[in-house]
Amino acid sequence: MIYFDSAASTSVSPSVLDCFVSANQDYYANPSSVHVAGRQAGRKLEEARKELLSFFGLVSSHQALYLSGATEANNLALKGVAKQYQNRGKKILVSSVEHPSVLEVAHYLGTQGFEVIELPVDCSGHVLPDTLASAMDKDVILVSIMGVNNETGAINDLSALAKIAHAYPKCFFHSDLTQAIGKVEIPYKDLDLFSFSAHKLHGLKGSGALIYKSSMRFVPVLHGGGQEMGFRSGTVSLPTCLALNIAVKEALISAKANLAHVDALSKALYEGLAGEQIRFNSSQEGSSYIGNFSLLHHKASVIVEALSEEGICVSSASACSAKTDRASTVLLAMGKSHDDASNAIRVSFSKDNSLEEVETFLTTLKRILKEVHVR
Ligand code: PMP
Repeated sequence: MIYFDSAASTSVSPSVLDCFVSANQDYYANPSSVHVAGRQAGRKLEEARKELLSFFGLVSSHQALYLSGATEANNLALKGVAKQYQNRGKKILVSSVEHPSVLEVAHYLGTQGFEVIELPVDCSGHVLPDTLASAMDKDVILVSIMGVNNETGAINDLSALAKIAHAYPKCFFHSDLTQAIGKVEIPYKDLDLFSFSAHKLHGLKGSGALIYKSSMRFVPVLHGGGQEMGFRSGTVSLPTCLALNIAVKEALISAKANLAHVDALSKALYEGLAGEQIRFNSSQEGSSYIGNFSLLHHKASVIVEALSEEGICVSSASACSAKTDRASTVLLAMGKSHDDASNAIRVSFSKDNSLEEVETFLTTLKRILKEVHVR
């Protein structure tokens, strides 16, 4: 099988699995329990939190919440900040190409008395600093702009964007870094808060984190026993937290080497598809981990299915909307035609893919495009 869908989820690293198994044997007590085993687990959890922050160079300025993934982290970031700081202002800015776990939350907040503005993107999928600057005013309490787009790999200039938001002292800058950590350079110190999921970097599904400036507070989304500083109730799975740390550590340590490898795969993909009946929606300036192109004459869902029958896994849109067979709202926001936005294929790599796999994919795709009838 050739797996080119790592933007949807990655294979789990053996050391992540080892850590999860041994931590379940060694630290099964509830970290909130007051007996010796509980206290031991509780100490380990706080050590893990510090270690996670140290990976980003944020020990003295930020805090970490272990959550069930980026969806939960984005929900807490948007709802939690909006409700906590609503007396400062009622405006929230998000990019128009955010993942649904940001965009749908923003739409929900729009029904709860907040004014939500969707920032348009340029034809390559970036929020331009000038676009943000002209939308900012003193009522904006939160700006949320992703680091790397999950469909196109477009990389935003987070430093420049955060600087614009921070010209307004009451405004927080959040970024969804789910497709960015371990893949592109990130100015972590410029961000007030950021979200990610472990399973996009060879960690476990159902695990993620929200990192935030220590002075920040959130109105919780989940109420209960008051775990995770009172911002996220529910018994903490220490083994899951320890496994997340391993995934992040490995991703950051090998980021450069992995990128050099994936750069070569991406170059082969762009070169191999040049002159074919496709139009690129991604660019080589974006994340090498994600390539996206529209089929000019074929239905993407049919080609994805045909590739799948040959053991090649790619995606016809983001996994979250793959089953709906609708036009990609991300591509439409970039100004692509309805046809292009309905017939896009995403190829997403991991460090485990090889050049031979890219060659096989290219040969198979070209053959299928000749065999399958045009739309
Ligand atoms: N944000 C982005 C950019 C993503 O790609 C994803 C996963 N597709 C998410 C958020 C949500 O992650 P999860 O499903 O792990 O909560």
